[in-house]
Amino acid sequence: MSKVAVVKTQDQSYESIKKAVDQVIEQIGGLEDIIKPGYKVIIKPNLVACPTDRLSGGITRWEVCLAIYEAVQAVGGVPVIAESSAAGADTELTIAKCGYQELRDKGIPVIDLKNKENARCVMPVKDGVVFDKINTWELVRDADAIITVPVMKTHDQTEITLGLKNLKGLLTDVQKKDFHKQGLIEGVVDWCKTLKPVLEIVDGTFGQQGLGPIFGETKEMDLIIGSKDLVACEAVTGKIMGYEPEEVMITEAAHKRGMGEMDLKKIEVVGKQIEEVASRFKRSSEVTIEGIPTSFNLIFSKDACTGCHNTVISALMDMKAQDLFLYLENMNVCVGPCTKEHLPEGANAENTVCVGICAKKLADEMGFRWVVGCPPGNADVVKGVLGDRKEYGVRYS
Ligand code: SF4
Repeated sequence: MSKVAVVKTQDQSYESIKKAVDQVIEQIGGLEDIIKPGYKVIIKPNLVACPTDRLSGGITRWEVCLAIYEAVQAVGGVPVIAESSAAGADTELTIAKCGYQELRDKGIPVIDLKNKENARCVMPVKDGVVFDKINTWELVRDADAIITVPVMKTHDQTEITLGLKNLKGLLTDVQKKDFHKQGLIEGVVDWCKTLKPVLEIVDGTFGQQGLGPIFGETKEMDLIIGSKDLVACEAVTGKIMGYEPEEVMITEAAHKRGMGEMDLKKIEVVGKQIEEVASRFKRSSEVTIEGIPTSFNLIFSKDACTGCHNTVISALMDMKAQDLFLYLENMNVCVGPCTKEHLPEGANAENTVCVGICAKKLADEMGFRWVVGCPPGNADVVKGVLGDRKEYGVRYS
């Protein structure tokens, strides 16, 4: 029977976090069966983009990675912490601002996969639904074991994002964008089945609800959750957050393709029980950005990727901070590969802007303003919305 351990942390100290991580590992039977002496082990945090506060729930805190690092070393593994942030985001910035540089200073390898020194490669995908090959790095291909270390977050495209989706950070930026065009859900499962991760440990100390994965509201949960069955880990963590397993497409797709158990009746939960710690996370669909005019249409193609999603939401936040929402009245902003069918009645060259390379075809076809980039910069999106109605030269963020 799949086993998931749920442990409460006592405070924010490293000792408390380490104790909780060690308890989770002990309760799921230790690491000896999945990490053999000499194994090259990748610990993969979620460092999607640099947050204003490292404990905002947007990224994995370094304490959890360090505790796992020490546990892997204790059984003879050779761990590294490795990540490449979202398409267009600077991994090195997050490393520098969120405590990971201090780990480097202690001699712990924290690898920015986007660094040109890391050799790229192509991994074949066996029985893929979307892909038959995937672009990654030799370091990833050559790992003997991968441990995924997500945070508890809602997500505007996938309801929640946990350890399975976190592994998308082991793809090159071009490949990440391609996932959103070709099929995100089954693509993630193709990738996870190729990598065969051995363990998920969720940093559930601070999560993010609402406009995740970056602009959400911090939610303190004080939890560490872990399992060697990633699907079971996601089913239990999702349930704690207020989602039934079948509401989360990645969990369901991974279960259907034999990656693990999502039936909560067939999962043994050890440590704290779900009911003891459950606290519903506000869903992305339940959030409105206060002050946005009701006549404004933000149109996301279902294939728009995180790069443009995050950029556009961030650009709207910049506009809010600068009292520019009046310029959104009666505007339409199209994101991703939108078509004429996506457009509301009355969309025209004056009131409609297409954002990103994927939306260029529609812009060309309809004569709409177009914001170049993949993803574009925030300031360029704001400029595109303002058109010639107002000067906008500075990025306010
Ligand atoms: S233009 Fe935007 S939606 Fe299209 S691939 Fe680039 S970042 Fe993704």
